[in-house]
Formats: sequence, C-alpha cells, structure tokens
Amino acid sequence: MTSVAVKDVSLSFGTVEVLKSLDLEIPEGEFLVLLGPSGCGKSTLLNCIAGLLDVSKGQIFIKGRNVTWEEPKDRGIGMVFQSYALYPQMTVEGNLSFGLKNAGLARDEIARRVAKASEILQIEQLLQRKPSALSGGQRQRVAIGRALVRDVDVFLFDEPLSNLDAKLRSELRVEIKRLHQRLGNTMIYVTHDQIEALTLADRIAVMKGGAIQQLDTPHAIYNNPVNRYVAGFIGSPGMNFIEGKVEPGTVPAFRVGDVSVPLDRYRFGKDAVRGGGVTLGVRPEHIGFGDNGKAYPFTGEVEVEIVEPMGSDTLVWTKLGGQPLSFRVDAERHLHVGDKVRIGFDPARASLFDADMGDRL
Ligand code: ADP
Ligand code: MG
Repeated sequence: MTSVAVKDVSLSFGTVEVLKSLDLEIPEGEFLVLLGPSGCGKSTLLNCIAGLLDVSKGQIFIKGRNVTWEEPKDRGIGMVFQSYALYPQMTVEGNLSFGLKNAGLARDEIARRVAKASEILQIEQLLQRKPSALSGGQRQRVAIGRALVRDVDVFLFDEPLSNLDAKLRSELRVEIKRLHQRLGNTMIYVTHDQIEALTLADRIAVMKGGAIQQLDTPHAIYNNPVNRYVAGFIGSPGMNFIEGKVEPGTVPAFRVGDVSVPLDRYRFGKDAVRGGGVTLGVRPEHIGFGDNGKAYPFTGEVEVEIVEPMGSDTLVWTKLGGQPLSFRVDAERHLHVGDKVRIGFDPARASLFDADMGDRL
C-alpha cells in the first residue's frame, strides 16, 4: 500500500520555482531518503508533506487520503528537525508529554507512551533532566522521542544529525536504522550527506534544483547513476571522470590520449555517437592492480603522483591519458611517488556519460 504520494507538486516563492512538478510514491514502511546539496528543495518538499508549507500546485496523499489542505496535526505525521527545538524550561518528560497533554490525552496513556518511547531511545534515566543538562546526541534523542510518542504513521526527519559531531552522527545513524527496523513505519529522511543516504535508505531520491534526478535503491544509484551529477554526488572518494571520445570501429572503445579502453563488455543504455565526446566514470574502488593475476579487460601503466593514506586503505593519484585518476589500494601495499604500476578495471563496472548533457549512455 502507498503510504505517501506526492503528485505533480510545484511550489514557488514569489517568481522562484523551488519545486518543479514533483512526483513521488512511497510504499508503506519504506525508508526514503531525499538527498541533494543545500538549496535543492529537500526541506521545502518535506514541509509540503508535513503541511508546514502550502503547495502552489499538485496534491499530497497520506495513506490514500488527500491531505493537501489539511492541518499538519491532522496528517498523521511526526517531524524531527535539525535544531532540536526543545522547551528549555521543561524536563525531558515534560518535553515528551507536552504535545499529548495539549491534545487532551488521558494521563495514563501519556505515561504509557512516554515510557515506551524513552525505553526505545534509551533515555529513561534522563526523564527528569532539563535539556541544558543533555549532550547534543541526547537532545536529538529527545527530539525523536517527541515524534515517537505521537504514535504516527509517517516520520519526517530533516537533517536530524547535522548538528552533531562525526562520531555521534554515526552512532545515532545506527540508532535511527534500528528504530526503523523495530517500528516499521514509513520514514522520509532529508540529508545532504551521501553516506547517511547510502547507509539508511531503502530508496534514495537524488534531488537537484527542485526536481528528482534519480529514485532508486542505494545499490542501483551507486552502480548505475543516471547522469554525471548523480554519479558525482554519490560515493566518497568521488568517481573519476575522464573526458574522451568513443572510437569508431567494430569493437567500440573509449579513447583518451594514447589510451584505449575496450567497451565490448559495457552495457549501453543509449547509443553513443561514434567520434562524439563522452565522459568515462570509474570509481576509485573499482580499480585494481593489473599484475595481480586478476585479468581486467583493461589495464594500463601509470605513474604514482600523490599518495593519500586513509587508514583502512590508501588513495593513490595518477594520470590516465593525461587526466587525473585516483584509485584505492590496500593500506599494506606501500606505494611511493614516482612508482610505475599497472592498474586495471572492468569497463562493465564503469559508467559512460554524454559529454554535453551528462546523461548515462
Ligand atoms: P534544502 O533543504 O535542500 O537545503 P530548501 O528547501 O530549504 O533547500 O530551499 C530551496 C530553495 O528555496 C532555496 O534556494 C532557498 O533559498 C529557497 N527558499 C526556501 N525558503 C524560502 C522562503 N521562505 N522564501 C524564499 N525562498 C525560499
Ligand atoms: Mg534543508
């Protein structure tokens, strides 16, 4: 069953169109991540779903009900923001129960919900503290708890971890994933952090300029990005992009400088114009050593220019056909500037993009 449906939604602030005829269907129980750079319209879309912003055009459905003009409180959603926005003068318990008291819930029902939420979020021992006596991570847990006690169908998160330091962010990320596994609710989660998107999402909607560029599983988006923009946004260290041409010939090949990469194993979705400009995209982790007994369809000799140790592995910079290329090697393989090595990759794992439009070929 569809949990949330966004149908042809547009939104303008004055003359600026921030959401452009957006369509999105989210099945019951899905963890959907809206991913994109700052200013692409993620929060605006989330606020439209929540009812905090009125759409200029289009409709929004929750559980099949048209909620386009319903008040936020009637939509069956709970929202968690980047800024925790807790009431500083109230205890954690007060913060958790405030909305329920206002809604006129019975006292024992409020107590039951607060107890359950604080057990799930492991904040039982903090209930009598004020927010000022909590760490950032604990405050964000309380903010999540406030959405949890409302017993809603759909949770909306707007960059809930952005204010936390890196270590806390990864800890809370796991907790949010656990929360979803335990509750099974539909969750829509906004972030600009591609790691959060890859680790949390059932599906990711990659946004740019108020439109969705690609909506798919993390695996599909990582391996088969629909265009160069999506390819560059997902993955860290980022995908290498090499500008070249598709060589005319019986077996298609990508040519850059004196390097020719056979493309017979590449699954073209669209025909490349022979002789036309194309961009070859290869992820650093898909490149290995060509002399390791591993038979790559393409290998080439390169010179090591920069070595960046990253702990578990090392990022090595070189040039291929005169253009910068990085590849990841095991940290135990010690390379030095000036070393000549044979590297290789399987073009079937690479991506080819139209040089002008950036669409996947
Ligand atoms: P994101 O959450 O992806 O960073 P937003 O949805 O907050 O982006 O904003 C999308 C665009 O809409 C931005 O260019 C922003 O400047 C603009 N915008 C957001 N809110 C308003 C507003 N109240 N008035 C005018 N422009 C706005
Ligand atoms: Mg935002």
